[in-house]
Amino acid sequence: MKACILSGKPVAEQIKNEVKEEIRKLDFRPVLAVIRVGDDPASAIYVKNKIKAAEEVGIVSEHYHFAEEISQEELIKEIDKLNENPEIDAILVQLPLPRHIEEKEIFRRIDYRKDVDGFHPINAGKLFQGRSSLAPCTPAGVIELLKRNGIQIKQKHAVVVGRSNIVGKPMAILLLREDATITICHSQTKNLFEITRQADILVVAVGKAGFIRSEGIKEDAVVVDVGINQIKDEKKLGEFFDGEELEKRIEIFERRGTVVVGDVNPKEAMQKASFLTPVPGGVGLLTVAMLMKNTLKAAIERRANL
Ligand code: NDP
Repeated sequence: MKACILSGKPVAEQIKNEVKEEIRKLDFRPVLAVIRVGDDPASAIYVKNKIKAAEEVGIVSEHYHFAEEISQEELIKEIDKLNENPEIDAILVQLPLPRHIEEKEIFRRIDYRKDVDGFHPINAGKLFQGRSSLAPCTPAGVIELLKRNGIQIKQKHAVVVGRSNIVGKPMAILLLREDATITICHSQTKNLFEITRQADILVVAVGKAGFIRSEGIKEDAVVVDVGINQIKDEKKLGEFFDGEELEKRIEIFERRGTVVVGDVNPKEAMQKASFLTPVPGGVGLLTVAMLMKNTLKAAIERRANL
């Protein structure tokens, strides 16, 4: 094993403690509305974790759970109510939404001042122009993870694999803001692994289990694995893990019938990279911590202008 594990836990705890400390000094408690549609089990877990983190830091959370069949118009009406409610500081819509609802329309509708996911076009535009904004939580969390571990971003070649509006694109913009030289790869990129092999910092957000293997990693690269994928075939676990980690994952599989892995093959990456974020326990924890930070920021800025 060569790489250091870049755990998300200490940095996430640090950020949450800072938020808690700030909230203690306020004469109000920020209120976060969390919307969940349908019964996707993974979404239920994400929402539970977000509500738990809110409680920990002193944010009041309100959970709105709608049936899978809710129409786009009805959901928009619910969002309008939250937009107009002066008590609500922040609105989060848990993804994925059912197919009949257009995510873009939903994100456009949320009051951009309450948009703690940073997906509203106004917030995306501000981010693009380098103005202060509510930046999407996952990529903002990656930046915090790197900086607070003393990993230099400035002047490094950062390669981002994935160009979604939620992760890949804002990730690239935030790395650019930190003076990295950036390359963005996607499904149409030719000779992708030749490019990823040039990365000092490699951020992978593709949604394909173990997509990045040894051949795609430069010696001593910092590898950030954003992916969350489920492995449902126990026989595959040996491709991803060995030794004690394999035993641990087999035990998890036997209890749950599934194991979460990222977009990077950890067994191979550990031999090549200097740092690797684990899945779970890496970027996901930062996403939740940054949601708390964004909720506090949204609350302070909006209430200052009431
Ligand atoms: P999307 O499906 O929206 O985007 C995936 C991106 O990967 C696209 O840009 C796509 O390219 C690219 N891609 C797909 N296949 C390939 C390929 N073969 N070669 C190169 N690029 C490819 O996913 P998200 O960005 O929303 O999420 C990515 C992953 O991150 C998922 O596993 C998701 O679960 C996870 N995630 C984790 C979070 C966390 O907190 N840890 C938060 C959010 C997401 P193209 O644009 O050309 O189609």
